[in-house]
Amino acid sequence: MKEIICVVCPKGCHILVDDSGKMSGYTCLRGKKYAEDELVCPKRTLTSTVKIVSSEMVRLPVATNGDIPKALLFEVMQDLAKVEVKAPIHLHDVIIKDVRGTGVDIIATRSILK
Ligand code: SF4
Repeated sequence: MKEIICVVCPKGCHILVDDSGKMSGYTCLRGKKYAEDELVCPKRTLTSTVKIVSSEMVRLPVATNGDIPKALLFEVMQDLAKVEVKAPIHLHDVIIKDVRGTGVDIIATRSILK
């Protein structure tokens, strides 16, 4: 028996999956889909920062604009450690396009104009 806590909404349903794959405990189909994805390929949104030069700030906050496979989080963090951007940067500017071939971009989560 495996337990998955659904994080799709604040209710946080505890979804149980038995050895045959039968699920119980979800309240809606979004939760069932979340649990199915968690079993096959868990995904997460990543938030972090990258180095910014020519600015009063030293780090630019960034995030994925979608979920990426949890298994790639470490590699993506390594990619971000190598990134240097220059101001000005605008909210939602793409910092890394299609990171690790996921189809998801790393984007700026704030503007830094100088
Ligand atoms: S199963 Fe549905 S109601 Fe329960 S936490 Fe997930 S999304 Fe929310």
